[in-house]
This record gives sequence, structure tokens and C-alpha cells, in this order.
Amino acid sequence: MVTEERWRISVDKNVCQTTGMCVTLAARHFELRGGYSEPLEDEVEPDDDVIEAAENCPVEAIRVTAVSDGRLIAPEY
Ligand code: SF4
Repeated sequence: MVTEERWRISVDKNVCQTTGMCVTLAARHFELRGGYSEPLEDEVEPDDDVIEAAENCPVEAIRVTAVSDGRLIAPEY
């Protein structure tokens, strides 16, 4: 069976420290607006770069969840 999973990306601006790390690691998915990171799209196809960004955010401001059931994809705690 082919599953077309989609991921939801969110950034907590109250936590983001404006390092730009996520933009460096996943420029297709994040940009800095007013210094804070924002996802370019709220929902994306699975992409390792998104996980990389979430795992490397120094303050874990990025959350990646599955659209289908809301389970946490990254970061791993
Ligand atoms: S890596 Fe984290 S702290 Fe740095 S800009 Fe992205 S969301 Fe903000």
C-alpha cells in the first residue's frame, strides 16, 4: 500500500533564538521573517532536511508532526 504521508511543521516564535540554523539546514522549508524562523509551508512531504533542522535547533523550537495522526516525527526527546 502506498502511503502519502504529510508532515506539519511549526515553529514556536516564543522559543526561537533567531540563530538561522534551520534556514541553513533546510532552506526549502524555513526562512527568517523579522529575525524569527517561519516554515514556508505548514505542510510538506516527508523530507530528511526538515528532521535535520528540528533535531539541530538549539532550543527545540521546531516541531514536526504527522498530519494523519499528529504523532511527533521530530525532534526526538
Ligand atoms: S534553528 Fe531554532 S532557534 Fe534557530 S532560527 Fe531555527 S527555529 Fe529559531
